[in-house]
Amino acid sequence: MFSFLILLMIVFVGVMFYLVKIVVFQLEQRADEDILKSKETFQNIINQKDKAYTEKARLEKEATQIFTLYEMTKNISSHLNEKEAFEVFHQKLKENIVVEDCQLVVDLGDEESLKEKMAPNGYAIFVLRSKEENLGYLLYKGVSGKDNDKFNILAHQFALALKRIKLYKDLERLSVTDGLTNVYTRRYFMERFEEEIKRAAAKKIKLSFLMLDVDHFKMVNDQYGHLTGDYVLKEVGLIIKESIREIDIAGRFGGEEFCVVLPETDAEGALLVAERIRKVTEQRLIKAYDNSIHITLSIGVSMYPADGKQAEELIDKADWSLYRAKSQGRNCVVAFGQYNS
Ligand code: GH3
Ligand code: MG
Ligand code: MG
Repeated sequence: MFSFLILLMIVFVGVMFYLVKIVVFQLEQRADEDILKSKETFQNIINQKDKAYTEKARLEKEATQIFTLYEMTKNISSHLNEKEAFEVFHQKLKENIVVEDCQLVVDLGDEESLKEKMAPNGYAIFVLRSKEENLGYLLYKGVSGKDNDKFNILAHQFALALKRIKLYKDLERLSVTDGLTNVYTRRYFMERFEEEIKRAAAKKIKLSFLMLDVDHFKMVNDQYGHLTGDYVLKEVGLIIKESIREIDIAGRFGGEEFCVVLPETDAEGALLVAERIRKVTEQRLIKAYDNSIHITLSIGVSMYPADGKQAEELIDKADWSLYRAKSQGRNCVVAFGQYNS
């Protein structure tokens, strides 16, 4: 009986030991699983952190690019001529993308002929356009595919800057140009006149000044009306501009009076120009609305430095000569020096 009890105890202890072992094993397994799960979670967090860093770096790069673009636009736009703006654009382009060559072409024929022209050299073309207006072209090569989008954005910004420059120039031109005759306004003409006198003084060279007045213009107005009179004045502005060089300066002095500065021109040259303007005007049949009109000009000429060293003096002398031309029967040229040398 006693030995049976001992045997039972041994069996009981054995079973208990076995059960404890199973429980311990299961607990260990669960702990392992928990550790594994924790490891996975940790790895996920690490991965997410890496992703966040990559995203942060990407956003920082994008922000830098946007900032660069903004800076570039600001830089380009602060320049008021195409050449300077292009230099800034080109510099920024080279800083931001790989580009072998990029050239600005303005005032070129049609797009197709340009494409043909640059094809052998392997250049690509970017048309600089604002709305429907063609502002020029960029010829470029060596831009890789990944940089193409960036090139397009930058080039588009440059086109906007060009448009701004053009608008500014138009505005500037309008503000100094007489609306009716298209020659300079009196105020701007005087500024240029003073500048030319200073230049002539510094370089010790001559300069001529012409004062032109339409003969019997009151009669044109009286006979054909003011609208036709305006048309005639517009035509006179055109004739004057056609007859002078690029460096000469033409202005409307007032009413039907015009003035011209001929830099680096002596008396002989000035008389030739004045005579040419006079003749062209005399021969031109002006067709204004339903009328065909002939007009003539009287012209007074003064010289720097012989007749005066200040603008006012030269104007006075040319005005005096113009008065002489009128009293001599009009449609003629009189130089101050002819009577006062
Ligand atoms: P002269 O040969 O002596 O110069 O005679 P003129 O008739 O040309 O000179 P006058 O000074 O008597 O007349 C100038 C006229 O020009 C008078 C004025 O009404 C006219 N006039 C001035 N400005 C304009 C303008 O912008 N448009 C028109 N249609 N006429 C103008
Ligand atoms: Mg007149
Ligand atoms: Mg007059």
